[in-house]
Amino acid sequence: MKPRIGVYICHCGLNIANTVDVEAARDFASTLPNVVAARRYTYMCSDPGQALITNDIKELKLTHVVVASCSPRMHEPTFRATIQKAGLNPYVLEMANIREQCSWVHSDRKLATLKAMDLVASAVAKVAWLVPLQEREVNVSQAALIVGGGIAGMQAALDIADAGFQAYLVEKQPYLGGRAAQLYATFPTMERVSDLLAPLMKRVNEHPNIRVMTNADVQKVDGFVGNFRATIRERPTFVDATKCDACSKCIDACSVSMPDEFNAKLTTRRAIYRPTPDSPFVIDEQRCTYIQDHVCLTTSSPIFDRGGAACVTACSQNAIDFSQSEKMSEVNIGAIIVATGAATFDAANKPELGFGTYANVITSLQFERLAARPEGFGRPFGSVKDVIFIQCVGSRDQTTGNLYCSRICCMVNAKQAHIVKGKFPDARVTVFYADVRAFGKGHEEFYDAVRKQGVRYRRGYVSEVFKRDNRIVVRAEDTLMQKSVEVEADLVVLGIGLTPRAETDEIASLLGLPRSGDGFLLEIHPKLRPVETAVDGVFLAGTCQGPKDIVDTIAQARAAASSALAPLCRGKVRVESATAFVNEEVCAGCGLCVATCPYGAPALNPRTGKARVNAVLCKGCGACQAACPSKAIQVVQFTPRQIISEIAVLV
Ligand code: SF4
Ligand code: SF4
Ligand code: SF4
Ligand code: SF4
Repeated sequence: MKPRIGVYICHCGLNIANTVDVEAARDFASTLPNVVAARRYTYMCSDPGQALITNDIKELKLTHVVVASCSPRMHEPTFRATIQKAGLNPYVLEMANIREQCSWVHSDRKLATLKAMDLVASAVAKVAWLVPLQEREVNVSQAALIVGGGIAGMQAALDIADAGFQAYLVEKQPYLGGRAAQLYATFPTMERVSDLLAPLMKRVNEHPNIRVMTNADVQKVDGFVGNFRATIRERPTFVDATKCDACSKCIDACSVSMPDEFNAKLTTRRAIYRPTPDSPFVIDEQRCTYIQDHVCLTTSSPIFDRGGAACVTACSQNAIDFSQSEKMSEVNIGAIIVATGAATFDAANKPELGFGTYANVITSLQFERLAARPEGFGRPFGSVKDVIFIQCVGSRDQTTGNLYCSRICCMVNAKQAHIVKGKFPDARVTVFYADVRAFGKGHEEFYDAVRKQGVRYRRGYVSEVFKRDNRIVVRAEDTLMQKSVEVEADLVVLGIGLTPRAETDEIASLLGLPRSGDGFLLEIHPKLRPVETAVDGVFLAGTCQGPKDIVDTIAQARAAASSALAPLCRGKVRVESATAFVNEEVCAGCGLCVATCPYGAPALNPRTGKARVNAVLCKGCGACQAACPSKAIQVVQFTPRQIISEIAVLV
């Protein structure tokens, strides 16, 4: 039977019609082979626009439809549903993108119209070869994996668990809380972060639907949306938390010493330590010489000498247990939320600012740790009279390659200036800024209040921090007064920004996630789909996607959880219908498709030696088709015949 094709050209308001002569394009379409209806309309995606299509399908007995409008990413599902409503298979639709690929990128109306005609002709040539496909659904595992136990991961886990589903919360560190656990107070409300975190952690730890795995990482993920299988490794802590009474005698006994990362390296810790003031004791496997070299550094006793470990001897509770080993678990999950957080910019990469050279130059993270001490902010460095804050350290900076704004440091600096003035009202506090970005709720008012407290904001670029006559001097270009200035200080605080974690590569390759130019994990669309990734069923929450404050982190975590809950609640998920198939008569069994497929869909049949495709895993990406030297593997709707028919009318 000859195809009966309908062509529908959208004006998209003036988006297309301003540049493309839609009437001429419609007239041209009506002359193409097998076209029995060609129409144009202001908004084809609107109800009246869709009605034009459904009426024609019924009255003119159309067999195939071409819509010339925006990108298929925008409205292909809409028009597939439209033609399905009128009784056609949703897969006999082809879209010609005459907006993003034509009207938006050209200004010459005549040439743009000719290009639109070419795109329509090409779509008409292909659509005739499209075949009806079956929609397919698979069952969903009723659980979610959340990678990262910071504030985003905990909130997402709680939302999943509160909805009645199992949540597996995997955290690399031996404690929950992530970056937020290091912070002292929030802006602009000045609540203690520990007061926010404690109830959240309690709920997470006690929730019957949440399994918390700290000191753990995800080793492997297989599968696809609705049916992932993750392998999780829990590393031993070597301290039995049920026996340990937190007397700290083991810590006193250990002589392995290193900077304490949790305390932003302001203090040191031992190989056996308490990672946060409230977390259980652990032994750092990489640093304990007894584990690494079989000789305890403190006693110089080899591992076969029972009791040779100083911490074991010191512990009266018999809590140290070197017999603990790694535990591997496999979990089935329907969705994954990545909430792995961000790192802070290493201020040593700006040596001109004196960090690491002068003890009086600290980072904003170190300020938080100093402020969080029981005695409050003050300093182990004498008087606090002249304090200078420097913003945008490692952000909006060509020299570091971090061109983005870290979005938190303006307000972190304002909060910290407020803390200094609260404790030392007579201190002279200066903030050197490039721009002040106080865009959040209550932020501008907080910034105003801080200035009213007497904090002086100077617009300027700091070029150098150096020592003169035992005083720290900050040299800057005051960009308002247009002159170079030098200001003395006894404390300089560098407002460091956020950067992608070093481990971002690992999680990106584990899950096949793309990263944006700044190195953070990439959402599928920054405005319309901000928590989804290119991998179906994998969502982003928190600063792994880009810098954000606690408010935005929680909001995004809840958005990621509700997106992840959609397939879990539905119990079924739709999988791609346009998948690859193998012509076994032509397949040479070379295995190139197996090696090429990013989703592990093809495999060689051990009996026949030929490739076969697991249609549930296949995304129809076409990589195998391009790789196959025999043209044996092809993707439905993108067969050589279909693609060549498209190209033939263009050349
Ligand atoms: Fe420290 Fe020795 Fe105990 Fe290891 S075995 S944690 S080195 S005291
Ligand atoms: Fe600079 Fe403020 Fe942006 Fe931080 S938030 S990078 S200090 S402008
Ligand atoms: Fe894998 Fe080919 Fe399917 Fe792409 S089209 S997912 S390469 S089998
Ligand atoms: Fe067969 Fe082509 Fe795959 Fe080689 S690449 S195994 S010929 S389908």
